[in-house]
Amino acid sequence: MSHRQLTGSVVIATHNPGKLAEMRDLLAPYNITATSAAELNLPEPEETGTTFAANARIKAMAAALATGHAAFADDSGLCVDALAGDPGIYSARWAGPDKDFRGAMNQIQTLLVEKGATTPEQRRGHFIAALCLAWPDGHVEEFEGRVDGVIVWPPKGTAGFGYDPLFLPDGHERTFGEMTADEKHGLPPKGMGLSHRARAFVMLAKACLRP
Ligand code: IMP
Repeated sequence: MSHRQLTGSVVIATHNPGKLAEMRDLLAPYNITATSAAELNLPEPEETGTTFAANARIKAMAAALATGHAAFADDSGLCVDALAGDPGIYSARWAGPDKDFRGAMNQIQTLLVEKGATTPEQRRGHFIAALCLAWPDGHVEEFEGRVDGVIVWPPKGTAGFGYDPLFLPDGHERTFGEMTADEKHGLPPKGMGLSHRARAFVMLAKACLRP
């Protein structure tokens, strides 16, 4: 299958400075310059999709149509098996307007305790990241990365963001909250991608970017 290549510049459809910095870093080796939706004063579209992929597509397509340029968006979250996939696409919303992730992590723990989920097998979860590259003519390229692990309690580590201190990826002995950004993403040449976002980005880079 042939994929459309991204060259030159791209609009990063995010108003989140952390995500923007991370995406700029990821794109830098490919000579792609990135402007953000926030820098261009683009409105934030409502995320009305029912999947990560649908929400990534809504954000990327809105930015592509508003600017006439290729645009790149991601949508991600934590899915806990024993909670029927919650918080899932509502991961950011569970933290509320104050971005209280300590509270959101407490909520997950409370619900897991209510379900009697105490063993690692009963506390499985995964992060998902959907990435979408969209062009103003309606063409899209979509990729999804996933990392599986265990929801630990209490939260461990102060690195990263969001639910990182709660998540122990399979095959590792430290949570994402205890890892450096380099370890968490585990990108080539040292690794093949560890975090959901890095795994999705490795797929996107293989398909649509030339070093
Ligand atoms: P989005 O901005 O709609 O994609 O929401 C993503 C939300 O999912 C973030 O606010 C975090 O709560 C959570 N999330 C996504 N990726 C990660 C991660 O790598 N570590 C911790 N939390 C994450």
